[in-house]
Amino acid sequence: MFTKILIANRGEIACRVAATARRMGIRTVAVYSDADASAKHVAACDEAVHIGGNAPRDSYLQWQRILQAAQATGAQAVHPGYGFLSENDAFAQACADAGLVFIGPSPAAIRAMGLKAESKQLMATAGVPLVPGYHGADQNPALLQREADSIGYPVLIKASAGGGGKGMRAVDKSEDFAAALASCQREARNSFGDDAVLIEKYVQRPRHIEIQVFGDTQGNFVYLHERDCSVQRRHQKVLEEAPAPGMTPALRQQMGEAAVAAARAVHYVGAGTVEFIVETMSAAGPPQGAKAPSGGSAAHAVASVGAFHFMEMNTRLQVEHPVTEAITGLDLVEWQLRVASGEPLPLLQHQLRLNGHAIEARICAENPDNNFLPATGRLDVYALPACTTFERADHGVRVDSGVRQGDAISPYYDSMVAKLIVHGDTREEALARLDVALAQTHIVGLQTNVQFLRHVVQSRSFAQADLDTALIPREAAALFGQTRVSVPLACAAEVARTLLAERAAQGAGPFGQTDGWRSLGEWVRRFSFRQGADEVPASLRYRRDGSLLLSVAGTPGELRFAAAGTGIALHWGDLSEVVHVYRRGDVAHVHTAKGATQLTTIDLLAHAGDAQAEGGRLTAPMPGKVVSFAVKAGDRVKRGQALAVLDAMKMEHTIAAPADGVVGELLYSPGDQVGEGAALLTLGA
Ligand code: ADP
Ligand code: ADP
Ligand code: MG
Repeated sequence: MFTKILIANRGEIACRVAATARRMGIRTVAVYSDADASAKHVAACDEAVHIGGNAPRDSYLQWQRILQAAQATGAQAVHPGYGFLSENDAFAQACADAGLVFIGPSPAAIRAMGLKAESKQLMATAGVPLVPGYHGADQNPALLQREADSIGYPVLIKASAGGGGKGMRAVDKSEDFAAALASCQREARNSFGDDAVLIEKYVQRPRHIEIQVFGDTQGNFVYLHERDCSVQRRHQKVLEEAPAPGMTPALRQQMGEAAVAAARAVHYVGAGTVEFIVETMSAAGPPQGAKAPSGGSAAHAVASVGAFHFMEMNTRLQVEHPVTEAITGLDLVEWQLRVASGEPLPLLQHQLRLNGHAIEARICAENPDNNFLPATGRLDVYALPACTTFERADHGVRVDSGVRQGDAISPYYDSMVAKLIVHGDTREEALARLDVALAQTHIVGLQTNVQFLRHVVQSRSFAQADLDTALIPREAAALFGQTRVSVPLACAAEVARTLLAERAAQGAGPFGQTDGWRSLGEWVRRFSFRQGADEVPASLRYRRDGSLLLSVAGTPGELRFAAAGTGIALHWGDLSEVVHVYRRGDVAHVHTAKGATQLTTIDLLAHAGDAQAEGGRLTAPMPGKVVSFAVKAGDRVKRGQALAVLDAMKMEHTIAAPADGVVGELLYSPGDQVGEGAALLTLGA
C-alpha cells in the first residue's frame, strides 16, 4: 500500500479522499490555487503545494506542476477525483512516465471510453445494448441528416467529446435537423475543441440508471449495484438514489453483467460507472393522484425499468458514489487505493450486500427560479444537519462538503457546495430523513437550491418514485417560485429574534424585558416588514400582565418564545414552531421545519431616528408625552437601540438611536409634554 498520495483536486472530493487516506494511515498532499490557499481541502491534508492561479487552466489542470508537486513531496500515487484531470488519458500517461501511480484505469481505457461515438462502436462489438443511432466517423452533414431521418424523430445530437450535460440538441423533425446540427457542432468546438457528433434516438421520458463497476489488475470485475440519477435539470443530476425503484434482481443482474462486459472490453482497472438510458412504461402505473401503496421501495415504484441502452462510461469515481457506499457498507475510495496499489478486489460479486435505500442531494450555489443561474458569495451562515461528515455518519445522514462557514463560493469552480446523503431501511425512511436534513441545512450569504430540493423531494412524482428525466419540468408548478413559510409566521419569528437579541444585549433593563414593564402601563411597538412588493405591518403590545400580543397584518396572537439550542421555540397564537432566524443587513432569513423564507425588515426605529437626528439630538416626531427613557446619561448605545418612548396620538412611539454612541443628557423626564421636533436627549460619539 502507498504511504503518501497526492490529491489532484479540490473541494469536497479532495476532503473525502483525504478522510479515507487518513483512516488507512496514508499521508496526503493537497494542491491548491491562490483562491484556495486556506481552503478546507488544504487543511484536510498533511501537506500542501501551491500550484498557481485561480482559473483551472492555471492550477488544477497544470499537470506539470502537479507532477512536480508529487515528486517533490515523495508521493507515490495521484488521486484525480472527478472533473479536472480525472478523465484525461494524457495526464494518466504522464503520471506513469513520471513513475507515479494514477489512481484510475489505464490511459488506453480512458481513451477508449473518452469519446462517446468510439466507445459506442466498441460496446456494440462487446454485445452491450445501445440506443439505435449513428456513431460513425463520417461527419458529412448530408449523411448525418439521412441517418437522422432513418432513425426517426425525435433524435438527439450529442457531441462525441461532450460531458457535463453540454453539447446536446434534441431535434423533433427533419426540417430542424440542419440548424440544430450546426449549433451543436459550434458548442462542441467551443467547449471540447472537437465538433464530432453522434446521433441517437431520443428516448421519451427515460430514466438514467447507472452501474458502479470495479476492476482489478488481476482481471476480476464486480458490479456494486445501480444508482438512479433520473432527476436532472439541463441533463445534470440533482438527486441520485440507490437502489433504483422498481429494479428487480433479474434486471439488476442483467444490467450489472452488461456493465461488467463494457468494463472488461477495455481491461478496466479501478472504479468506473456505466451509464444506461432506460425506457419507462409510466402508463403501467396507477392513475395521476392515486395514493401510492406503502411498503418496500419496489412496491412504491410507479415508473418501470424497461429496455436499457448503454449511454457512456465515466472512467472515474462519480459524484454520487456515496449512495453506493451507503447501501453496500463499503468505502469506494479505499477500494480505489487497494486496487491501484495492486491488491485484488476486496470482495467478490456474491459477497456484496445491498442494504436499505440511500438518496443524495447536490446542494449547489444557484438560483433555481432563475434558470439555475450559478451564484457566488460568502457562506455567512453554513449550518448543516447534526454532526455528519464522511468520517462520521449519524442517524443515516452524511454530509460531504469542501467548505466551512465563512468560505467563499467563487466563480472559478463549480457551484456544488455540499452533498447530503441519507440512508434508511426503506425509500420512505430515506426520503423522510432527507426532508428533515434539508430543513436543517441553513445557508445564508448566497443563493442555493436547498428549498428547491425540498420541493422536489416532497413532489408527488419523487415521493411515489415516478422517476424519469422529465420529472422536474413535469412538477415545475410545485417546484419553482415556492415559499412554504407563511409571511406572518416569519414576521413573528423575526420579532422574537429581535426581542431575544435585545434581552441578551441589554440584560435586565426595562426594554430588554418582556415581562417586567408594568409600572407605566401597556406600550406598543411597531415593526414593518417587506416581502416582494408586499409591506407587512406588525405591532407588539407589551401588556400589563407581562404577556406580549403580536399583531401581524391585523391578525393578533399571544407571542411566547424561548431560545432552543441554536433556534427559537416560537409560539404565536395557536402556531408553535422551532425557528432559526439569521439577520444579514436588513434581511431576516427565517428557517422553519416547513421551509425557509426571507423578509426585509424596514427599520422604523432607525429611520425615525435618521429623520429626527440633528447633530446627534433625538427629537419628538410629533407633539406628545414622554413615557419613559430606556437609557441614562453615559450609556453606550448601538444604532437602532430603543432610547425612549413617546405617547402621541394614542400610540406609543419608540425613539431609537440613529447611530452608535454615548448618551449625553436626558432633556426631559417621564410625564413631560413635548412639542414636535423637541430634542429628547443628546447622543455623542
Ligand atoms: P457525475 O457524472 O459524476 O455525476 P458530473 O458530470 O456532474 O459528474 O461532473 C463531475 C463533477 O466535476 C461536477 O461537479 C462538475 O461540475 C465537476 N467538473 C467537471 N469538469 C470540471 C472542470 N473542468 N472544472 C471544475 N469542475 C469540473
Ligand atoms: P454527459 O456526458 O453530458 O453526461 P450523457 O450521454 O451521459 O452525457 O447524457 C446526459 C443525460 O442526457 C442523460 O442522463 C439523459 O438524461 C439525457 N440523454 C442522453 N441520451 C439520451 C437519449 N438518447 N434520449 C433521451 N435523453 C438522453
Ligand atoms: Mg453522463
